[in-house]
Amino acid sequence: MLQLDEVSAWYGQARALDAVTLTVETGQTHALVGANGAGKSTLLRLLCGLVPVYTGTITLNGKPYDPRKASADGVALVPEGRLLFDSLTVEENVILGARDRAGPWSLTALYALFPILSEKRHARPSDLSGGQQQMVAIARALATNPAVLLCDEIALGLAPAVVGDVYVALARVRAQGMTVLLVDQDIARACRVSTHVTCLLKGRVSHQAPAAGVTAQSLRAAYFGVA
Ligand code: ATP
Repeated sequence: MLQLDEVSAWYGQARALDAVTLTVETGQTHALVGANGAGKSTLLRLLCGLVPVYTGTITLNGKPYDPRKASADGVALVPEGRLLFDSLTVEENVILGARDRAGPWSLTALYALFPILSEKRHARPSDLSGGQQQMVAIARALATNPAVLLCDEIALGLAPAVVGDVYVALARVRAQGMTVLLVDQDIARACRVSTHVTCLLKGRVSHQAPAAGVTAQSLRAAYFGVA
């Protein structure tokens, strides 16, 4: 279980997260939604040590969690915009994430999850389609054999059919018992694959509930801050 208590973060003088309390249960998928600028990416980046924790505490499976040791502690990020290295091949990008940790996500397993990446393993990321690049980013994160996978807008800019492929792959990852914290602008899609949903508004938690039954309409006030 990943537990955040009263976590705050700042960019200089601007508060990006304000006393965020959030529980992501082991083996479950938790959706993080909210308008542009609500703080979703900041929260994921904070969990990987890319944004410092200003106040608050975080525990992972009951032990204090230091985001600066995210990779060693089994927390991996699929970043918004993918951030692949084009000077490396597809395969080199993927194994960049590999760690000396036992787990199901060997290179063979990753190629079984994304067969197209096996075919393209010697290509450069820029020679791949957007969907294939997203698969590389997901594979790179999985190669660390994480306990918790953080996914930031993995559908962004992809054609609907390709989004379907990416989410089918994510379902297979979730079926292996992965704990997932997922940012998606599409509330319906995020809630379909999640057990719980947290909505952020201006860096604060504005709504938290089981995902079943949550709709864009029911989240309107929490999302936009209007009744
Ligand atoms: P989006 O859907 O647009 O990605 P988000 O919910 O992920 O939005 P964040 O990107 O976390 O929101 O941004 C939260 C707030 O922090 C916003 O007000 C944003 O302008 C600000 N912010 C984000 N990154 C930085 C940065 N590097 N420096 C300064 N302010 C930042």
